[in-house]
Amino acid sequence: MNTVQLRGVNFTPGSLEEITDHILKRIKDGKQTAVYTPNSEIVQLCIDDNSLYDVINSAEVIIPDGIGVIKAAKILKLPIKERVPGIELGEKLLSVANADIPVFFMGGKPGIADEAAAKMKEKYPDLVVCGIHDGYFKKSGEENDAVIEEIKKSGASILFVCLGAPAQEKWIYENREKLDSVNVLMGLGGSLDVFSGHVERAPKFFCKFGLEWFYRLIKQPYRIGRMMKLPKFYFGTWLYKIKGGK
Ligand code: UDP
Repeated sequence: MNTVQLRGVNFTPGSLEEITDHILKRIKDGKQTAVYTPNSEIVQLCIDDNSLYDVINSAEVIIPDGIGVIKAAKILKLPIKERVPGIELGEKLLSVANADIPVFFMGGKPGIADEAAAKMKEKYPDLVVCGIHDGYFKKSGEENDAVIEEIKKSGASILFVCLGAPAQEKWIYENREKLDSVNVLMGLGGSLDVFSGHVERAPKFFCKFGLEWFYRLIKQPYRIGRMMKLPKFYFGTWLYKIKGGK
C-alpha cells in the first residue's frame, strides 16, 4: 500500500477492509508488520520531539486513528479521507483470526487481558488467544526478557501491545527484532480495557460527529493535559500550511 506523509508521519490510507486485507496478506507472505494507530496527539508529540518520528515511521502500517488527523489532511489537501480507529482494526483482526493466527494480549492492569480474552473468545469462537500478560512490568532487563520469551513460546502470530502511546510504539520498536516469529505487532492503547468491558467506547453519536475526544474528556477529565495537544495540532497545521508546508 502507498503512504501519505502528514506533518512528517507516513500514514497508510485505506478503508478498514483494505487495511485488514493488507495485514492478512503480509501474514500469509511471512512478513513482519508493525501497526501503529496514531491520533493527532501523537503526531504533535513527534513535532515537539523529532526523535519520535523514527519510532513512529518504522511501522509498516500507520493508520489515522482520530478525527484531528483527518481534519489536518483536509487542511493540507492530502488524500487521507477515512479515519480507521485502531480498536476497530484490532477487533476486525480478532474476528477473522483462527487457530492458524493465534493472538497474544499484552497490556492493561492485572486481570484485564484475561477478561478481554474471555469476552472476545465468547464473541468469536474461532479465536485462539494463546497468551496474555498485563502491562505493568519493567520494560527493560530481565523482566522484559521474560515477557519476550513468554510471547515467543506462545506461538503468537498477532501481538496486541496495549501500554498507551507512545510507550507501546517505543516498546515495539525496541523489541520487534527479538520477536521475529510474531507476524503482527500492534499498538492498541486502551483497547483491552474496552474489550474486557471495563471502559465503554463513545456512543455512535459522538463518533459520527468527530466528538469521541470530547466524550473521553468528560469520562476521563485527567486527560486534559494530553488533550491540549489537539488544538495545538489543529492551529499549528493551519500555520504550517500558511507558511507553505505540504
Ligand atoms: N498501561 C499498561 N502499562 C503501563 C501503563 C499503562 O499496561 O505501564 C495500560 C493502561 O492500563 C491502559 C492503557 O495502557 O489500559 C492505556 O490506555 P489509554 O486509553 O490511555 O491509551 P492511549 O490513549 O494512550 O492510546
